[in-house]
Amino acid sequence: MGFHYNCDILIVGSGPAGISTWLHLNKNSPELAGDTILIEKAVLPRHKLCAGGVGAWSADVLNRLEIDILHSTFKCNTRL
Ligand SMILES: Cc1cc2nc3c(=O)[nH]c(=O)nc-3n(C[C@H](O)[C@H](O)[C@H](O)COP(=O)(O)OP(=O)(O)OC[C@H]3O[C@@H](n4cnc5c(N)ncnc54)[C@H](O)[C@@H]3O)c2cc1C
Repeated sequence: MGFHYNCDILIVGSGPAGISTWLHLNKNSPELAGDTILIEKAVLPRHKLCAGGVGAWSADVLNRLEIDILHSTFKCNTRL
């Protein structure tokens, strides 16, 4: 059985690539973000292995998205 999605943009996967794509859309083209569907095959929250490192490039991207990683409730090695 197939699915039909009625949207302009379909993002597959809610990992860092997928969610940052939506966050960038929401920041830069909110009209498109409102017509975007993000699908995820895993049941969330899910366990995700993570070393907890945020590199300079990633920190810069999060900063431009106005996401405060120092004061976020994000926790590694837990169910994200
Ligand atoms: C052990 C370990 C430790 C790590 N530690 C760090 C770290 O400390 N710092 C760091 O920056 N990076 C770390 N990484 C790397 C980081 O996890 C990856 O770079 C990052 O997750 C890649 O993001 P992504 O969105 O491309 O892919 P993913 O995180 O893999 O996300 C892809 C998503 O798409 C979903 N998906 C796949 N196929 C489908 C489908 N057909 N339909 C719907 N959904 C689908 C998956 O379920 C998944 O949620 C680590 C990786 C590992 C393995």
